[in-house]
Amino acid sequence: MRINGSTLLIGIIGHPLGHSLSPAMHNAAFEALGLDMAYVPLPVDPGAIAPAVRGLAALGFRGANVTVPHKGAVVPFMSWLSDDARLVEAVNTIVVAENGALHGYNTDVEGARLALLQAVDGEGLAAEEALLLGAGGAARAVALALARLGMRLTIVNRTDEAGRRLVELIRAAAPTAACRHLLFSELSPAVVASQRLVVNATTLGMSGAGKVPAPLVDTVTAGQIVFDVVYRDGGTDLLAAARERGATAVDGVAMLVGQAAAAFELWTGRTAPIEVMRAAVGRP
Ligand code: NAP
Repeated sequence: MRINGSTLLIGIIGHPLGHSLSPAMHNAAFEALGLDMAYVPLPVDPGAIAPAVRGLAALGFRGANVTVPHKGAVVPFMSWLSDDARLVEAVNTIVVAENGALHGYNTDVEGARLALLQAVDGEGLAAEEALLLGAGGAARAVALALARLGMRLTIVNRTDEAGRRLVELIRAAAPTAACRHLLFSELSPAVVASQRLVVNATTLGMSGAGKVPAPLVDTVTAGQIVFDVVYRDGGTDLLAAARERGATAVDGVAMLVGQAAAAFELWTGRTAPIEVMRAAVGRP
């Protein structure tokens, strides 16, 4: 790849960014389609988010991804929000319009949908039960995708207030959706056993974070789908246990590639070379 004065730049704003797989994915995709574009990491401290986001247009960037911990913080700087970004109250993709206006999108919703549909291979999930751990940014995106697939949602979160807010958000976005929330302490083996899908959308399982509670992991059975949005080298303990127990395991990388493909299409107007992107993150 050659970078010159006409190369269109895309950035990723986050902190820290050391392990981000996004530059490899997008640069491989630009190269595969012969696009004069480059994707660069832009580590930004939380205190510097305002000048960093405003600087995108001034520096001639075509757009950016936004990752932990800035997805919510960039929302006030957008001139326009997609429906998904507005509902989820988080932006993971910025497109800089010709006039310099910043358009905010949330392609994590589409990434979660694609990851799940790929795992069930076209099988319908409507009216099936789904248990979702977490109520943060990733969980809000997954919850919206699941509600739109018609799944019946049980949200489990450490903090009662965040769980309650997510239920309200889902009821506003999908008024006919069945949705309730529980605390981890209220989660029984019977509730886990009655699920078709179990999703971890907390930070539990990330390196340096705690683990998904063992009683929950030990209740997973064959026939269930277990989706962990957390991605790490070698996979998570939750997915290893799910495979051992005969469940279908869906890796967070599938969602990562799906959200990246949707962002790529917004910046370039071209169909994303999804197999090239998947190969670039080194997972089948
Ligand atoms: P976030 O907004 O900070 O939310 C964190 C969630 O984890 C909250 O629900 C929080 O509960 C919960 N949590 C944290 N520590 C916990 C603990 N000790 N016990 C129980 N719950 C705990 O983070 P996020 O942006 O949603 O990111 C979550 C994970 O998803 C990260 O690993 C991120 O890398 C991953 N992610 C993956 C993709 C993908 O494409 N695969 C996309 C986006 C994010 P409280 O509400 O109680 O604090």
